[in-house]
Amino acid sequence: MYINDLPENFLLPNISEPLVAWYRKHARPLPWRKGCNAYHTWVSEIMLQQTRVEAVIPYYNRFLQHLPTIEALANADLEQLNKLWQGLGYYSRVRNMQKAAQQVVTLYNGVLPADYNLLLTLPGIGPYTAGAIASIAYGQKAPAVDGNVMRVLSRLFCLEDDIALPATKKGFTKLTWALQSETAPGDFTQGIMELGACICIPNGAPKCAQCPLQSFCTAFAQDCALTLPVKSAAQKKRQEHKTLLFCIAQGKLCLQKRPDKGLLAGLWQPVLLDGNFSKEDVLGYVTKLGGTPKTIAALKPTKHIFTHIVWDMEAYAVTLPSPLSIENACWITPRQIADSYPVPSAFKAALTQALPFWQTDV
Ligand code: SF4
Repeated sequence: MYINDLPENFLLPNISEPLVAWYRKHARPLPWRKGCNAYHTWVSEIMLQQTRVEAVIPYYNRFLQHLPTIEALANADLEQLNKLWQGLGYYSRVRNMQKAAQQVVTLYNGVLPADYNLLLTLPGIGPYTAGAIASIAYGQKAPAVDGNVMRVLSRLFCLEDDIALPATKKGFTKLTWALQSETAPGDFTQGIMELGACICIPNGAPKCAQCPLQSFCTAFAQDCALTLPVKSAAQKKRQEHKTLLFCIAQGKLCLQKRPDKGLLAGLWQPVLLDGNFSKEDVLGYVTKLGGTPKTIAALKPTKHIFTHIVWDMEAYAVTLPSPLSIENACWITPRQIADSYPVPSAFKAALTQALPFWQTDV
């Protein structure tokens, strides 16, 4: 059955009561679940869109320690923001959060509006985040539908809609509005997310014996939970070949700032060249810049997967007698990179290999 096949007069089961009761008893004690603070909900939900709960906790704690209020986020230095986000990926999300924080300070006295539709007008806040903030922090009836929720609902009603399609999300959003608790919308939202994360899990068999919704579940009754949800294969990612040069001189490493727009905007990188360069190509390139390498060492190739692109990267550590003049670049010590230069995780594996060359070059 598909979501549009549900008849208008379809009598929805009352899942909210057992779900909310289960959530109140079994919720994991996560730092963003202490009290109801819209800013905390916002930060955690944006971080959780890209990383597992366990990995998010230290990032979340550090972010709030440095930027405890929306005003602090609005006024933060971009380098500091990028540094706090380093390792989470999708840096445009934190830049959008700052733009939204600036609007919240200007328009709403530094308090996120308690209104689903107003939340949607802020940069980087889509239906999922708006629904999470409105319901969890403000106790309003508003849907927050992510992959977890679509999986639970697909199984509960045996729905075969392809959850990779945007239209499917719209259908599930409508269904969630109808199912949501009138009296405890926040615990309903968190409960269904928690159920998807801990019981009605994505990989492997769902733990139906522990599920508070088992008596309502069509997939359980028909023994077809493992075939749901339906999700079409993601489009093939574009593959690009790159070469990284870790240019090192007098104990300093050359980092270049990326352009302010586009992929990894405003972050720092080693010298990044398009295509696969051999050692001879690297020598030719550095010589053209006016440098005379002392050594050129090939590092192990690395790979980084973005949403739509895969970078296959050759890498070299190039030691030089003195720093070269390279556009948008600065030469930094190991201490400086740790303190203030956000290097994206795309370059981390290669950087780790280049470290010994850098630390021993004095
Ligand atoms: Fe998921 Fe099983 Fe619960 Fe159905 S009974 S919602 S399949 S965990």
